[in-house]
Amino acid sequence: METTKGLIECDYLVIGAGPWANSFWDMLDLPDRIDITDNDGEVHRNVKMWTYWSLQEGTLGVKPSYGMDNDGKMPPVIHVDTDAPLYSSEDGSLITEKMWGIYYKPDFHFKGIQGGATPNLVDKEDVSVDPYGIDSPDFIVGPEFAHTWTSALAHCQKRYEDKYYRYRKEPSGGLGAFTPDNFPIFDAMRQNCYMIADSSHGYKMIGVGKLVAKEIMGEKQSLLRPFRFDRYDKGELLPESNSPFPWS
Ligand SMILES: Cc1cc2nc3c(=O)[nH]c(=O)nc-3n(C[C@H](O)[C@H](O)[C@H](O)COP(=O)(O)OP(=O)(O)OC[C@H]3O[C@@H](n4cnc5c(N)ncnc54)[C@H](O)[C@@H]3O)c2cc1C
Repeated sequence: METTKGLIECDYLVIGAGPWANSFWDMLDLPDRIDITDNDGEVHRNVKMWTYWSLQEGTLGVKPSYGMDNDGKMPPVIHVDTDAPLYSSEDGSLITEKMWGIYYKPDFHFKGIQGGATPNLVDKEDVSVDPYGIDSPDFIVGPEFAHTWTSALAHCQKRYEDKYYRYRKEPSGGLGAFTPDNFPIFDAMRQNCYMIADSSHGYKMIGVGKLVAKEIMGEKQSLLRPFRFDRYDKGELLPESNSPFPWS
């Protein structure tokens, strides 16, 4: 393995590089386009291996306690997906009649109501992951997100109906690298290199490291099986979601 500290020899390599998955994929000389057999046996040729979505998040500058439940307790993260028309809480105009989704929660770290909306697909051939996150001027949220998200908050809960002006205008967001079916890939590539590409599924994948460690030590893990790379070739894809979020 070639590193900034020179060449390091190892018997086995585990890669969990999040949005940087593609650069390791390239180092392993794996294909940037693949053929995919769907569950009906139809072959889709030359599908891009990695796509990027720009994650849209922000904070409403009210006290986090403003978002507590009716008993004054911390509510769960609220996540709503719907095809109900979304209207602006600012001027009543129609924002969208297509599927949309948001999530939000009181957040003491961000000092407000923090959350996000459906991410934007980055429709570009070459995407620079670096500089990452809010350091990238291309992938931070803009006024359109603020308008949509605060209107969606108002749609979901009356208490946010007149709060759009409290949106905190500060850079937020970041890129996620997604596989062709937007599900993770957990698999050994090139014999001795284990790829943990979580496709931005986050906390849902919290136990994966332990399963991968067991698998590498020779204990086959049935829970990891659906996420192997050859599912694309074998037409054993995971079920498609109706959610507008690529990680739901
Ligand atoms: C804006 C945003 C908000 C999110 N919000 C949530 C949320 O609320 N809940 C949730 O569950 N998930 C959320 N996610 C998704 C979650 O962050 C990811 O799914 C998760 O972090 C992936 O974990 P990972 O360990 O695979 O990769 P990462 O956490 O991305 O870690 C990869 C690591 O690899 C390192 N790396 C990259 N290249 C190299 C290299 N060449 N050499 C050495 N190291 C390298 C990076 O520095 C990084 O530390 C969010 C993502 C974004 C972008």
